[in-house]
Amino acid sequence: MGYCMILRAKYVMPDSHTVIENGAVAVQGSKIVDIGLYPTVRSSGISPTHDLGEAVLTPGLVNAHTHLDLTNSADSIQRVPKFTDWIFQIIGKRTPSTVGPSVREGVQQSLAGGVTTVGDIDGTGGSAQILRDIPIRKVVFFEVLGFSGEHAAMGLTRLRAYVDSPPAPDSLLTSALSPHAPYSTSAEIYRQCVASGVSVCTHIAETKDELEFLSSGTGAFLDYLEAFGISTAEWVSPQLTPTEYMETLGVLRTGSLLVHCNYLTDADVTTLAESGASVVFCPRSHHYFYHTNHPVVQLIESGINVAIGTDSLASNWSLSLLDELKFLARTQPCIRPETLFDMVTCNGTKALGLEQIGRLEKGWQADIIAVQIPNDSRPAIEQIFDRSSENLLTVVGGQVCYTSNHWG
Ligand SMILES: [Zn+2]
Repeated sequence: MGYCMILRAKYVMPDSHTVIENGAVAVQGSKIVDIGLYPTVRSSGISPTHDLGEAVLTPGLVNAHTHLDLTNSADSIQRVPKFTDWIFQIIGKRTPSTVGPSVREGVQQSLAGGVTTVGDIDGTGGSAQILRDIPIRKVVFFEVLGFSGEHAAMGLTRLRAYVDSPPAPDSLLTSALSPHAPYSTSAEIYRQCVASGVSVCTHIAETKDELEFLSSGTGAFLDYLEAFGISTAEWVSPQLTPTEYMETLGVLRTGSLLVHCNYLTDADVTTLAESGASVVFCPRSHHYFYHTNHPVVQLIESGINVAIGTDSLASNWSLSLLDELKFLARTQPCIRPETLFDMVTCNGTKALGLEQIGRLEKGWQADIIAVQIPNDSRPAIEQIFDRSSENLLTVVGGQVCYTSNHWG
């Protein structure tokens, strides 16, 4: 099911380096059937036409990493600089009764913020079923963790249940696996996730504490595990960086998503570049935890596919990828606007293994947004990054899923 319509705007930006002035996109069913100058597209006879005015029609934005099931818990999470103190607050926040409302609210906020695709971490096993009925494109990563003993055994049981009966894909839903992080998840769980053959998403190199834990087996994560009664008696640190550790477990391969990568050595960057894995940078979550500079420029220059995520509302101020893009443009002025835009569109779809989305092209999926711009003399792409720009319309697979009050 889908709409039949022409969307017209002052600018159409099919990708980061192409601008059509007085452009239009024709949509039929779930797909784009024409794109170009408005007078030409209009001659197709498709109707109705919606004129977005002083706006840019662009590919829908791709939030490559979020946790929608934490959306409604965010108000009860305090911003604390120490990561293990923050993660203590998250424990128990997701219950079967809170997941549904949180995921639905998270989707609404995402659509409003220009997001047409999410890479969502399913912390309870309940998100996929809820998301199945909601029109947003999604890769749902079933989260597994378990560090040792009974904790790890429970994680392996959960993983086997997923592998035996994964959520069936549909036109908007794909499922994959997320072994949580090296400080919470055993090597065996990582290996079995990799062996399952599906895409793997994991949080790595997020904090200096994680580096210490893996290199010497000491520090805040040792205290954290012991506080939960999780045995570390048999834990032998691999004496590796998180990236090196992931390499030994087979995680570094095309199709894997490595979230955060805040702390990397030069050798780690080289290893990542050779692996074909994608990195997901979460700029405002990175800022939330007061981390030092992220190596995002070095990653891009090394040819690594870098996508962008908001992470959850528990470590961010909104789920809007348009907000994330504006923050990124302000804080990373040396990255070209075209590169920034690729990071929230085609790099995201590549990271998530999705095809025929991430740019506006005839025959591709109609995942489209319309960003109202200040209409000054700057190039359209720079006006998208302006503080005042606003998402007017979100279309997923040809279906209008969000309109602002300014939608005509
Ligand atoms: Zn996360």
